[in-house]
Amino acid sequence: MPYPTQPEASHFIGGQYVEDTAGDPIDVVYPATGEVIAKLHAATPAIIEQALAAADAARAEWAAMSGTERGRILRRAADIMRERNHDLSVLETYDTGKPLSETLVADATSAADALEYFGGLAGSLTGEHVQLPGGDFAYTIREPLGVCVGIGAWNYPTQIAAWKGAPALCCGNTMVFKPSETTPLSALKVAEILTEAGAPAGVYNVIQGYGPVGTALIEDPRVAKVSLTGSVPTGRKVYAAAAAGMKHATMELGGKSPLVIFDDADLEIACAAAILGNYYSTGQVCSNGTRVFVQEGLVDAFCARMVERMQDAVIGDPLDETTTIGPMVSEAQLNIVKRYIETGVSEGAELVTGGTALDKDGYWITPALFRNVTDDMTIAREEIFGPVLSVLSFKTEEEALARANDTEFGLAAGVITRDLSRAHRMVSGFEAGTCYINAYNLAPVEVPFGGSKQSGVGRENSKAAIEHYSQLKSVYVGMAPAEAPF
Ligand code: NAD
Repeated sequence: MPYPTQPEASHFIGGQYVEDTAGDPIDVVYPATGEVIAKLHAATPAIIEQALAAADAARAEWAAMSGTERGRILRRAADIMRERNHDLSVLETYDTGKPLSETLVADATSAADALEYFGGLAGSLTGEHVQLPGGDFAYTIREPLGVCVGIGAWNYPTQIAAWKGAPALCCGNTMVFKPSETTPLSALKVAEILTEAGAPAGVYNVIQGYGPVGTALIEDPRVAKVSLTGSVPTGRKVYAAAAAGMKHATMELGGKSPLVIFDDADLEIACAAAILGNYYSTGQVCSNGTRVFVQEGLVDAFCARMVERMQDAVIGDPLDETTTIGPMVSEAQLNIVKRYIETGVSEGAELVTGGTALDKDGYWITPALFRNVTDDMTIAREEIFGPVLSVLSFKTEEEALARANDTEFGLAAGVITRDLSRAHRMVSGFEAGTCYINAYNLAPVEVPFGGSKQSGVGRENSKAAIEHYSQLKSVYVGMAPAEAPF
């Protein structure tokens, strides 16, 4: 390996690396070759206890610091992260298989944006003054929730670790973060960097493990909040466990988002949006617009141009910066995608291009485009989480909107048209947390991100995240002598 991928130890607790080899083994695999690049251990009950105790013990000191001081540490961490962007990106590429051309611009940089943004916001968090009749008044105090648990998916490990950690720490909380068992490496770097930037020991801890480690964290009475990025079935379990303890919860879950392309659209913008919304990160993006509704007069031209543009995709060594398509994250995910492609064909969709597994080491499949897909087909209803685009044709705006919303999910939606009024009408009708007009799949930290319907609750990023990592205490101040009826 041109870069050391084996971390010093599996967990990072109380400002240092910690190991417990009694934990279940976690082999980290480089998806491009199938090689084991690191060997870690899942947290044992002793490690879980150590992490929660460290986060609990760090709470008071961290919350007592001024927001400006906390913010300075977060901003310093952002600077360190940017300085090390290249090495962090290489590590992310080993962990996920995503091409370096992506990880250099979308992972540690996005994490740094979150640390910088919430670092900047930390000093401005305040309550309000409320004047009341008779000279009485009230004020509110914005307080941290306490120990927060973050649980991550495998597609954006560095970003998820920071999108949860940065707002949590900004508000004066501490965190125990459990990355996905498939991609456990980069969250450890986030913890290392925060510590180097001056975060006191225990403020941000990382422990490894499978689902049961996540469950044990959520069920602990010291934990005040859980934020999960994962699938809808996991979200249901985690949300239920949080509810049992009356804990705050943010659920960033899956989707089957629509991208609606009208026949007046700029064809190149339409294709660019469809490519970004289906093939970036080899299709492993939660907000992907995988149901591409194309107005009937444009279907042939759209499919033809997509096939041309897809020929320019460079599939190969993820560490080569000219590569634009990497492998699937794991053999399991590759098999899921292969099964969906077979199902698409057997249910009568036309596979126009791609969908071929490559006969080499690692978990490779070419990006697939289906046309003649109907709303009831499995590939149009279920989240695939791979590079599989479905073209569905439509006639009218009303029909497109109704069909776009006919899903249990509500993460994102996009519209491509030159007609501004129609674009805004569509957006107003979309049942989705994030909408795009003539763009797709951008998620800058300044903008709230999250789902509606089964795709989740709560919002990450932006000032909206503050509401999900703090609570208000109201203080009523009586200025006149208190009066009582007896
Ligand atoms: P997953 O649901 O299998 O796992 C997510 C995390 O939850 C992992 O860390 C896993 O160990 C943990 N987990 C599993 N069972 C648990 C339980 N019972 N209690 C506590 N924790 C548990 O998801 P995945 O396969 O890692 O990621 C893909 C999914 O994530 C897709 O559905 C995708 O759409 C979604 N996703 C959503 C967003 C978003 O922001 N909305 C972003 C990225 C990925």
